[in-house]
Amino acid sequence: MHEVALVEHLLDAVQAELPTAPRSARVRRVLIHVGVLSGAHPEALRFAFDFLAPDYLGEGAALEIIEIPAVCRCQTCGTASEINEPVLLCPRCGSSEIRMEGGSELTLQEIDLDIDDDSDADATSSQDV
Ligand SMILES: [Zn+2]
Repeated sequence: MHEVALVEHLLDAVQAELPTAPRSARVRRVLIHVGVLSGAHPEALRFAFDFLAPDYLGEGAALEIIEIPAVCRCQTCGTASEINEPVLLCPRCGSSEIRMEGGSELTLQEIDLDIDDDSDADATSSQDV
């Protein structure tokens, strides 16, 4: 399951983005874009994330996935079709003279953090929300 390797890579990237004092920030949400032609399955990514994220980010981080469609642009009939799975022929006219645009990305978009501001917090208050 290559999603595990993808998620490990993703979590490394998330960690690299975090503030240098790791205890002061907790990751709430990680938003990624997954193209439909990336070869990664959102459900498998979620599963791998739930399994791996606590080791990297601590408990409580959620993965949000936005699936990005691809566009199949036909050189024969000129149709641009939004597709959700790989195709070899134009969905409109059946021509094989097509070009794919987009849909292969797997990118880290956003990281939502909870920042603990110590300045006015007392020592016992920071665990439960
Ligand atoms: Zn066509």
